Amino acid sequence: MNPIRSCIGCRKTGGPSELMRMVLVDGKVIFDQPQIAPGRGAWVHRKCLKLAIDRQAFKWAFRLSSMPDVTDLQKELLTEMDAKDMKLK
Ligand SMILES: [Zn+2]
Repeated sequence: MNPIRSCIGCRKTGGPSELMRMVLVDGKVIFDQPQIAPGRGAWVHRKCLKLAIDRQAFKWAFRLSSMPDVTDLQKELLTEMDAKDMKLK
């Protein structure tokens, strides 16, 4: 049985190949690339990552009272933006 995964950005459902899994470790949200970390995970489309951060979606995804540390996710976004910039040039 596969659990239904839905993106915390757009709320649409998708398979494990479309969605990236994130877990909360010591108050910090990190990518769970092998998708095996235990505990509560949140799923997001790569394109919805910014939306999820802007909406503070991680707060409710992990049932927290305040926004967790998303530094790693923001770094990931910056890397992606740099890559896009390079393609444009
Ligand atoms: Zn999405």
